[in-house]
Amino acid sequence: MKIAIDGPSGAGKSTIAKLLAKKTGMLYLDTGAMYRALALKTYKTNTSIDDISAIEKILDSTQIEIDNSVVPMRIYLDGEDVSEAIREHHISALASAVSALKPVREKLVELQRYIAAKSDCILDGRDIGTHVLPDAEIKIFLVASVEERAKRRYEELRVKGCDCEYETIKQDIIIRDYNDMNRQISPLKKADDAIEIDSTFMTVEEVASEIERLIAKEKR
Ligand code: C5P
Repeated sequence: MKIAIDGPSGAGKSTIAKLLAKKTGMLYLDTGAMYRALALKTYKTNTSIDDISAIEKILDSTQIEIDNSVVPMRIYLDGEDVSEAIREHHISALASAVSALKPVREKLVELQRYIAAKSDCILDGRDIGTHVLPDAEIKIFLVASVEERAKRRYEELRVKGCDCEYETIKQDIIIRDYNDMNRQISPLKKADDAIEIDSTFMTVEEVASEIERLIAKEKR
């Protein structure tokens, strides 16, 4: 069984996907982490995202590996564990820009499909139900109000010791949503056969239970 969870930034996709993976034993793949890893590479190598031939060279020479045998999964960029580095604030915006590039999407989607083909899995991202796994048995489009998403991200960052501003986070989310929804290739969009869940007033457990019900129904 394949489960696709798509939706805008901060809607809780990865939290829900991780919890479901733990409960069901299914493999979990955070596809955003792959775009983030590539964004980190462009940052480290000082590569302009407008320089497509340089980006193509990076794609040919970069190794992105996911270790799903540990929880939470670890992501390696050219052998280095970058699981924390890719979460940094400046990488989020860069990931959104990098992910709009055609060669980047082609390469990473190929890798995502390769990983997904191996077992039952849950993938979260922006284009899983519409493009990466169009035949997924369960497709969820997870949304929440922008205020709630900004609040969750703000609280998460504060716990990590970040001295950030709620308003800045909210504006960043609005910009990233806009970019993800309006790019030419595989924009963020609800698949026709996806089920929309609005998590604004729901707990993580409530959302997970709703998806578990769908899984049980699918298995019947
Ligand atoms: O999910 P996350 O916020 O970590 O993703 C970072 C960025 O990667 C997103 O803003 C989006 O631009 C991009 N992304 C994508 N397609 C995916 C997953 C993420 O374009 N399947």
